[in-house]
Amino acid sequence: MVIIGAGAAGIVAAWKAATDGAEVTLLEKTNRIGTKILISGGGKCNITHDGPLEEVLRAFRPNEARFIRPACYRFPPSEIVRMLTDRGLRVYTRPDGRIFPVDQTAKDVVAILAQILGEVGVRPQLQRTVMGVRREGDRFRVMTESGEVEGRSLVITTGGSSYPNSGTTGDGWAWTDALGHSRVPIRAALAPLITDPEPAEGFPGVALRDVLLVGYAQNKEVARWRGDLLFTHHGLSGPTTLGITRVLAEHIDDGECRVAVDVCPDRQFEDLGADFQAFVQEHPKKQVSTWLDGFLPDRARAGLAAAANVDATIPVGQLPKKDRNRLIETLKRWPLGRVAEVVLPKGEVVAGGIPLTEVDPQTMMSRVCPGLFLAGEILDVAGPVGGYNLQAAWATGFVAGESAARWASDS
Ligand SMILES: Cc1cc2nc3c(=O)[nH]c(=O)nc-3n(C[C@H](O)[C@H](O)[C@H](O)COP(=O)(O)OP(=O)(O)OC[C@H]3O[C@@H](n4cnc5c(N)ncnc54)[C@H](O)[C@@H]3O)c2cc1C
Repeated sequence: MVIIGAGAAGIVAAWKAATDGAEVTLLEKTNRIGTKILISGGGKCNITHDGPLEEVLRAFRPNEARFIRPACYRFPPSEIVRMLTDRGLRVYTRPDGRIFPVDQTAKDVVAILAQILGEVGVRPQLQRTVMGVRREGDRFRVMTESGEVEGRSLVITTGGSSYPNSGTTGDGWAWTDALGHSRVPIRAALAPLITDPEPAEGFPGVALRDVLLVGYAQNKEVARWRGDLLFTHHGLSGPTTLGITRVLAEHIDDGECRVAVDVCPDRQFEDLGADFQAFVQEHPKKQVSTWLDGFLPDRARAGLAAAANVDATIPVGQLPKKDRNRLIETLKRWPLGRVAEVVLPKGEVVAGGIPLTEVDPQTMMSRVCPGLFLAGEILDVAGPVGGYNLQAAWATGFVAGESAARWASDS
């Protein structure tokens, strides 16, 4: 059998298939296995997510959770952790459930995955780019830059199309089109945003902690995410941004999308008004920006005051009431501009891909092309940040490898 792509899904598929006795040809475009795993989690690799499986599944959209459920029960988060820790990796779980290597390096994860492949005799063929795939009778012919390979079953795990430098340029979808599949349009998810206007000069690199970022499409709220927000040169990034971009990318072609941040999500307008009043009583001569100090880092204060059209240098005691109200309103809803672009190539995953209705979730076999198996990000599954996407890739890869090995030996 042939597996295309030695990322998270392809590696586990190859390991499982070889464990079950299949002769596996694993073809990889880049010069190493797990190229994207190496950059995952900022190089630290958030391997998977801890907690009751049903809770882990709830992080996905309902149809996606339904689809990956059987695979995640076959290969739950504890299994990938066990595979890695049995071979010496030490891991820890953050309070939010995200599991990382203790030594904070994805390299250790990939080194163990290489060892695991070696244990079952799989030698990945690196820098072997697949150019096309053809079905001939009950066999698949796979064309590479350096000759053809063939097999009775074929597993395509070429991933998505973000971070194209890591080898993922969306190649697999052209082949699945030719094999009879349709495609859900590819869109960005977990991606940074370019905003218009761009954040004022002096902003890039500023982070707001524990804020609520809200996305609007045609003035209606469509997404919200609480956490940290990062200003970049051209827009926004950080967990809150990544948390709302999938939904924004779905709306952006239909009309204007905008974003706004609530800097104090746990406090109400009246509460902030009372806070301001108390500050005025105690320090009437201090500047407005000193009061804002309690809510925002230095460089962001001027930006917020400008957005509220308030002079942050005047003493709080002299701030007219309507300006004070506008300032507090802006703390609760600071407009950060129009979404000019959701930057797909810089997204951690893409949404869209092979429609889940075209794949059997029990086996990962294509419903339109028997003998073809699909796993990982090539499928229309995109979880949030938190180890969910690797979990989906490990689990669907496991089932695809197992079923493809069985198909190859049965047929
Ligand atoms: C910056 C970043 C950080 C991330 N961090 C995390 C994280 O911490 N936790 C998490 O759960 N998820 C994370 N993700 C998402 C996660 O990495 C992916 O969802 C996951 O790797 C998908 O696995 P896959 O096996 O489907 O595809 P990939 O891991 O992308 O593997 C696909 C492989 O196919 C190969 N390939 C493509 N085309 C061809 C071809 N023509 N011929 C041969 N080979 C080919 C590619 O070179 C690649 O190696 C992150 C993603 C990015 C970009």
